[in-house]
Amino acid sequence: MGSSISFKRLLMFSAVMLVLIASCSEEPKEKTPIQTLPPESKLTLKPRPAFDADSAYAFIEKQVRFGPRVPNTKEHTRCASWLEKKLKSYGATVIIQKAQLTAYNGQELSAVNIMGQINPNASKRILLCAHWDSRPYADRDSKERMKPIDGANDGASGVGVLLEVLRAIHLDSIDPDLGVDIVFFDAEDYGKPEGSMLGNSGDSWCLGSKYWAKNLPIKDYKPEFGILLDMVGAADAVFPKEGVSLYYAPQIVDKVWKIAGALGHENYFRSFKGNEITDDHRYLNEIAKIPTIDIIHYDMGRFDFGEFHHTHADNMDVIDKSTLQVVGDVVLQVLYQE
Ligand SMILES: [Zn+2]
Repeated sequence: MGSSISFKRLLMFSAVMLVLIASCSEEPKEKTPIQTLPPESKLTLKPRPAFDADSAYAFIEKQVRFGPRVPNTKEHTRCASWLEKKLKSYGATVIIQKAQLTAYNGQELSAVNIMGQINPNASKRILLCAHWDSRPYADRDSKERMKPIDGANDGASGVGVLLEVLRAIHLDSIDPDLGVDIVFFDAEDYGKPEGSMLGNSGDSWCLGSKYWAKNLPIKDYKPEFGILLDMVGAADAVFPKEGVSLYYAPQIVDKVWKIAGALGHENYFRSFKGNEITDDHRYLNEIAKIPTIDIIHYDMGRFDFGEFHHTHADNMDVIDKSTLQVVGDVVLQVLYQE
């Protein structure tokens, strides 16, 4: 096993609990009932391997350097083969799912969903996913609105964190009875541009995950649960308890947020309920019936998905290693708590 949870943090935690118990016992018994400590206080964090935010950052940068990962372009094809190679290099069994998908404007998209499996024969499995394509438009920008964006946060960040999670598992070890599946969905971000009169907006996103959920590449595929990462790299990210996740998989939201809290990351993993967001997890829940949550930056009252969202400013400048570290630590901890 690699580095474990810092002993200092455990000590601090015990000290806080002692103070809580002490202050409770000082209250007059007839006035205040003995407080039961919240369940998250009892969470014992198991050792997990180290997550290297520099490495995750480099994986994001590498994707961005290919150029925008828009279906039907050579940049997209090149990035797909790199992702496939990376998954294999970290010991994953790779399943490539190619699909011809139709965009809102009738355009045929040659899409590819890329899956990597660790311990492919284990019956207990956890699904981790992100979209790897980038938006063909900058429809929230004031200039060059019909040109594709880098999608450093929107797309590459989730993939970068998951590649680093996989690398960490590969360098360390994981329970052979726990299967981990990483899926990179294509054509999430080919949705109808703002202001376009064509097609139906709500239905034009998440084409790759919709196809994958309808055509699961593994027979009787039934992971315990799924975690989707989307826009997980911006500084001071705010991850609310997203509405669709709470509707379909409240127990998974609870599990992940408790772990984040025990790691001291309540400033990122917020306790309030967020809006319902149409993202790849919606179709995993609704079509494939896999209880899946979305860890997604959404800061109500402060540019929702970020000021840079769907603009040319969604480039490497917005990627913050501290946020990558937090998300990577939480995801790894979730796996090693199982
Ligand atoms: Zn997007």
